[in-house]
Amino acid sequence: MALVQRIPISSSSIRNWQQARTNLTPICCLHYNTASSSSSPFTEKHSVERYQRDQWLYKAVEPTPPSTPSPSPFEDEVFVRENDIASQLPELKKLLAVLKEKRVKGCKGGDCGPGDVYLVGTGPGDPELLTLKAVRVIQSADLLLYDRLVSNDVLELVSPDARLLYVGKTAGYHSRTQEEIHELLLNFAEAGATVVRLKGGDPLVFGRGGEEMDFLQQQGIRVQVIPGITAASGIAAELGIPLTHRGVATSVRFLTGHSRKGGTDPLFVAENAADPDTTLVVYMGLGTLPSLAQKLMDHGLPSDTPAVAVERGTTPLQRTVFAELKDFATEIQSAGLVSPTLIIIGKVVELSPLWPHCTKESSCLVETR
Ligand code: SAH
Repeated sequence: MALVQRIPISSSSIRNWQQARTNLTPICCLHYNTASSSSSPFTEKHSVERYQRDQWLYKAVEPTPPSTPSPSPFEDEVFVRENDIASQLPELKKLLAVLKEKRVKGCKGGDCGPGDVYLVGTGPGDPELLTLKAVRVIQSADLLLYDRLVSNDVLELVSPDARLLYVGKTAGYHSRTQEEIHELLLNFAEAGATVVRLKGGDPLVFGRGGEEMDFLQQQGIRVQVIPGITAASGIAAELGIPLTHRGVATSVRFLTGHSRKGGTDPLFVAENAADPDTTLVVYMGLGTLPSLAQKLMDHGLPSDTPAVAVERGTTPLQRTVFAELKDFATEIQSAGLVSPTLIIIGKVVELSPLWPHCTKESSCLVETR
């Protein structure tokens, strides 16, 4: 029985998704010149869909997603975070109390151990890239904590009886701290709930899944990890790019564009990464790409090395910029790509059937879906 009623979901996500896919025809060499107006398939922190899905959490305060931008984005973010967390607290406490009571009643003389926590990878966005195991676990959860890279279509697979809690992060702004996420996972597992932590891509690739696993295991909570298709694999497959290829790339390297201490210079890796036989895949790399590209060339990577940047890969809103390394940063900037964007640099990029043979001098923006 539902503890708090969730609003009904009006449409079948997968059917809509498939329809969106079939409506999109590949266009090669189309330069991007208008701002994208359609809403993101990902869970933006201000999206109305997200507030509706999390509605059970806002019983005390009516959910009013900000409609007009505040003068300072920073003030706005602080407001949203503080407001969100404060208004969610009573309902979270209530849910915790109900779960505890249910557990005490249900386990008289029986097994009263903590619930399990599942770290579930949801892939890069297309719900059809979920594993069967992920779908099964998602549908059996009591509480699901999800972040920004979990697409709305994946969330629509969640059982109507389960509770969804947004704990997403965007660059430079976190709706909940990592410590708060740890505490939530722990509290609900201790109350006997089956808790699912949804993470975009694979939970153990640049997803802080390892930290969550480590924390919970130290508290005696059983954590099971369900792998997801990481953005590199999902997006490379989508574009027909083999990440390794005999005679072209003998290895592949996943890099983060973010450095750990909040700096913006991941360039200490460039020296070792400038290997023409290695495919480089850069996660979270938009901000630092101009310096990374330059450093790679300074360390000997040919300036005509093919590269591609893919925004919202595997979703109906996917946008792709192909260019040679020397032009790559400029072309990404003029296309106005935003996060999430994945970058692939290496000779294998040219093997994509979408690699724009239309030009040597300029790059191409391709709407591939
Ligand atoms: N755990 C995730 C990565 C999280 S880091 C995984 O395994 O894929 C977040 C970064 O992943 C984003 O900044 C972007 O670089 C990349 N990313 C994830 N999903 C993406 C998508 N659908 N399209 C483009 N990039 C994506």
